[in-house]
Amino acid sequence: MEISDKVLVKRAVEATKKARQVAETREGWKFMGYVGAALVTEAGNVFTGINIELYCGMGFCAEHSAVAEMVKNGETKIRKIVATTAEGNVLPPCGRCREMMYQIDESNLDTEVITGDGDRQLLRELLPNNWQTHFDKSLK
Ligand SMILES: [Zn+2]
Repeated sequence: MEISDKVLVKRAVEATKKARQVAETREGWKFMGYVGAALVTEAGNVFTGINIELYCGMGFCAEHSAVAEMVKNGETKIRKIVATTAEGNVLPPCGRCREMMYQIDESNLDTEVITGDGDRQLLRELLPNNWQTHFDKSLK
C-alpha cells in the first residue's frame, strides 16, 4: 500500500515529540530533535529519525538517523522521504543529505523527495552534475 505524503509528514513530526520533551529540560538544546524525517523504502517499510544538535558543531540531520535506521534493518533503497520541523513545516534536504542518500544507493536518484506542501522532486533533480562522474577514473 502506498503511504501518502500526509501520513509520511505526520510520522516525521511524531519522531520529534519525545526528543523535544527532553530538549525542553536542557539548556542549549534549542534545536535538538527539532527536525524529524520519515522515509518509506522500496519494500514499503517506514523508518524515522531526528536531528542531533550539540555544541562545537557536533550532530547530524534527521535524514541521517532515518537512513541509519533503514540500513540497520538491511535496506538501502528509499522510495520517498520527507523532513519537517516539529511544527510540521516541510524542509528540503541539505546538500550533505542529498549526497548521502545518493551514496547509500545510486538508485536513490529516483527517490521522491517531498520538498513542500504538495511539492515533490526526484533526488536527481536536487543533485545535478554529481562529482563522481568527473572524478579521476584511475582512482575508482
Ligand atoms: Zn541534511
